[in-house]
Amino acid sequence: MSTDLSWSRGIDDFMKDSKGTGKYNVVVIGAGTAGLVTAAGTAGLGGRVALIERNKMGGDCLNFGCVPSKALISSARLTQSIREAQKWGLKKQEPQYDFGEVFERMRALRAKIAPNDSQERFESLGVDVFRGEAHFVSPHEVEVDGQKLRAKNFVIATGSRARIPKIEGIDQVPYFTNETVFDELTTKPDSMIVLGGGPIGCELGQALSRLGVRISIVQHGAQLLPPEDHDVAEFMQQRFAAEGIDVRLNANATRVSRHDGKVTLEFREGASITADSLLISAGRTPNLRALGLEAAGVEYDEHGVKANEYLQTSQPHIYAAGDITNRLKFTHTADFTARTVIRNILMPLPFLRQKMDLSVVPWCTYTEPEVAHVGLGERAAREKNVEYDLFTVPLDEVDRAVLESEETGFVKVLTKKGSDQILGVTLVGAHAGDLLHEFVLAMKQGIGLGAIAATIHAYPTFAELARKAGDKYSKTRLTPTAKKIFSWLYKRARQ
Ligand SMILES: Cc1cc2nc3c(=O)[nH]c(=O)nc-3n(C[C@H](O)[C@H](O)[C@H](O)COP(=O)(O)OP(=O)(O)OC[C@H]3O[C@@H](n4cnc5c(N)ncnc54)[C@H](O)[C@@H]3O)c2cc1C
Repeated sequence: MSTDLSWSRGIDDFMKDSKGTGKYNVVVIGAGTAGLVTAAGTAGLGGRVALIERNKMGGDCLNFGCVPSKALISSARLTQSIREAQKWGLKKQEPQYDFGEVFERMRALRAKIAPNDSQERFESLGVDVFRGEAHFVSPHEVEVDGQKLRAKNFVIATGSRARIPKIEGIDQVPYFTNETVFDELTTKPDSMIVLGGGPIGCELGQALSRLGVRISIVQHGAQLLPPEDHDVAEFMQQRFAAEGIDVRLNANATRVSRHDGKVTLEFREGASITADSLLISAGRTPNLRALGLEAAGVEYDEHGVKANEYLQTSQPHIYAAGDITNRLKFTHTADFTARTVIRNILMPLPFLRQKMDLSVVPWCTYTEPEVAHVGLGERAAREKNVEYDLFTVPLDEVDRAVLESEETGFVKVLTKKGSDQILGVTLVGAHAGDLLHEFVLAMKQGIGLGAIAATIHAYPTFAELARKAGDKYSKTRLTPTAKKIFSWLYKRARQ
């Protein structure tokens, strides 16, 4: 996660008080994306800021989330391309790789990125970094390692961790979570149960399957990737099946046990699966433990710290940012909340403060093909009684996708009924996460699908997918009356 907020520090560097003494402008708890961005931004604007981290600088994204998972996915994707070499006119072959070396590469790349989030870098930005577990002792004081820190404002950015489902026997079996799998999975298991078929389970399940692990993805609900439309989830399920991944839907795991070094998961329906290992990816739970929120008078529930649209908690001088308060738990939303918090802490006048606007939030699941989404899907539109028109373009209508042998996928664009106002987009395909942003910008800036159609897109690019969706919209504008007028004009021109 880059926190390169290139704001210069003020000449007055507030260093009159030594580290930990006096009063800070802001004390930030948690050095994940939300905490780092808040600390860097506040220091960059000239504020005196303390940042507290109990574990690794960089939080989930760098250490146990986005960064290692995408490095692993990249290697896994290449193994699959090699397996499918005939698609590119090459000889069919099996990829040669060493499981441990693939993980080594992932850790090396993570280490390459880590300095961005390091204690040294943050200290060089003027942030006082404290290592230890922080807790509030009062609404105006946080304690870390026996030292009390005072501040005008506090930011709770303590993130989330894997939710461990309450299944009988879960405490007696070994399992991986995102916090352990990247560092502790050192030898390739023959098989693995992935408990949870959301984005994390799907991404890691497919990557590990491609790296030679027999994967069973166990999903409680009726589809993989619950936030997506059913057809999108079904598309991915078929892809997984084609790659040999065993997907169990509507599977209610009731008991887990260990025999002869293997893990067996039993279901209410009577079936069971046995595998060498278990990975839990069954949702997230907020990191509230040991924070002393009662001492601070900050309200919370099982979803996290409660905050208003300005990201203030029940104590207005204490803010919350990132997974600890976000419903949409992503690095980019953690970043966005942090930027909002920086502004709202700085602005003395209420009307200058910024409300959280999460109306246009993109996300992407980095499976192959990628599944990228912004705004309303069809199911959400129906649930909200929003009338819409739907424009769908399969990727095999895009020449570049065909030439790259990447024609699997499609885009679905929902527009407000009878207009070109984009309500939501789902893209399934190669580079979907990158391609989505043309639509994200369009939605944010109120640019319609017609305007996208009227924009020259370079040929041959994957980006033509957006223009083709625009063309489909434009064709709907050709009413029978308009066509009659054009025919008449053509006829007249021939006379
Ligand atoms: C496997 C995986 C893959 C992911 N992939 C993506 C992706 O591709 N794209 C994306 O946008 N998002 C992804 N995410 C989500 C993303 O990682 C999180 O949304 C993001 O890290 C949230 O940032 P945060 O700052 O809120 O919390 P965190 O990164 O969790 O940071 C919180 C920090 O607070 C510290 N802390 C907690 N309590 C205390 C305390 N009392 N005192 C001191 N320190 C404390 C923790 O140790 C932690 O370092 C992924 C997540 C996972 C698990």
